[in-house]
Amino acid sequence: MAELKADVLVLGAGMVGVSAAVHLQKRGREVILVDRHELAGEGTSFGNAGLIESASVFPYMFPRDVGQILRYAINSSPQVRYELSDLPAFLPWLLRYYLASSPKRALHSAMAELPLIRRSMAEHEALIAEAGVPELLRRTGWLKLFRSDATLASAAADFERAKQFGVEGEILDGKAIAAREPSLTGDFAGAVYLPAPGFVPDPGGLAKAYAALFKRKGGRFAVGDARTLEQVGGGWRVNGANGAALAREVVVALGPWSDLVFGPLGYPIPLAVKRGYHLHLAPRGNAVLRGPVLDADLGYLLAPMNRGIRLTTGVEFARRDRPPTPVQIAQALPRAHALFPLGAPIDAKPWMGARPCLPDMLPVIGKGARHPGLWFDFGHQHHGLTLGPATGRLLAEMMTGETPFADPSPFAAERFG
Ligand SMILES: Cc1cc2nc3c(=O)[nH]c(=O)nc-3n(C[C@H](O)[C@H](O)[C@H](O)COP(=O)(O)OP(=O)(O)OC[C@H]3O[C@@H](n4cnc5c(N)ncnc54)[C@H](O)[C@@H]3O)c2cc1C
Repeated sequence: MAELKADVLVLGAGMVGVSAAVHLQKRGREVILVDRHELAGEGTSFGNAGLIESASVFPYMFPRDVGQILRYAINSSPQVRYELSDLPAFLPWLLRYYLASSPKRALHSAMAELPLIRRSMAEHEALIAEAGVPELLRRTGWLKLFRSDATLASAAADFERAKQFGVEGEILDGKAIAAREPSLTGDFAGAVYLPAPGFVPDPGGLAKAYAALFKRKGGRFAVGDARTLEQVGGGWRVNGANGAALAREVVVALGPWSDLVFGPLGYPIPLAVKRGYHLHLAPRGNAVLRGPVLDADLGYLLAPMNRGIRLTTGVEFARRDRPPTPVQIAQALPRAHALFPLGAPIDAKPWMGARPCLPDMLPVIGKGARHPGLWFDFGHQHHGLTLGPATGRLLAEMMTGETPFADPSPFAAERFG
């Protein structure tokens, strides 16, 4: 069998791995992208809500509001559900998440990620132009609806805080909501409209477009199982379907599956997942949804994808490999039908994905300190579509000895000991 050789193996061809591969290639590295699927963008990056969240200055931290925590605790919130039998496995992680969400530490996470968030749109724009897929970026912004005065007030306060970091937007009343999205029906206290975020109407297609760009420029793609990774001589080797692939350096960009590689190598990184679902439905009649709409209090989002209206759910705490339990899809469906004229489902069953999360809601980007040539780029939580290209740049700058555009120290794996 053939043996492929390169400078770097990138394990995982989701938005994060593909973006890292493209940025390494731009810096003269020969790269082999390895995935268990034949196509890029078939994992979590396939099914997200399509938002380039360039206005999301504050990561999704554990709530500190007692009422909200109680609603989560009795498993009655549409935003978050947990699988009771998996709870013992999650509790230590949830405690770390809670502790990392103190106002001080949450602000630290936000400030660490801010340079990446600020860079997110420009990095996508550049890659989208190079890949020749302008139709995959729409300038719709993002509409967040609130049903109660209390939740609207809290969102307005968050927005005021975000304004200090350059976030633009406006608070809309019922009339302004109707002007922006005429097909919506409901009793809204108001909405926050953020014009800057981009919308990708086919997130899996965007990862594929970046992978096609990578291949056009001479990059190679190998189908293989990252779990076969081993250290050989002065480098790394992974078994592919058509032979082995070898390189001096390796990047672990396996999203929620990254523990399959860093675990056996002995790194105690507390990666967990927040699962989420989607289902596409046809719009009814001439109804048009102009951009993504979050029905915040009811815990779901509608996004006008190329395939149809994609309904995405909030967070489910359950083991990554546990069979799907799309309870939140069932809860959201009647609410979504009441909000927007929806017809029949387009998908035979809901899709499930797993947001790869660290307790401080920051990704792991940087060296695997105990193994020469080992690099990490995973844990992009709710923001992997948004941050893939920006973190790809950061990682590639670190690996090639350039001055990184952002301080990488908050993302180091060593923060977990
Ligand atoms: C419902 C939902 C909505 C979301 N909405 C948004 C949003 O609007 N905006 C946003 O920015 N983010 C959003 N996210 C988060 C975002 O989708 C993720 O952060 C992102 O997709 C992670 O990308 P990744 O490349 O790290 O992982 P993945 O896309 O999962 O890629 C990992 C790759 O590793 C491969 N792999 C796994 N195991 C192996 C193996 N053993 N061998 C070889 N290859 C392997 C997989 O096939 C896959 O291609 C959402 C997530 C969900 C679930």
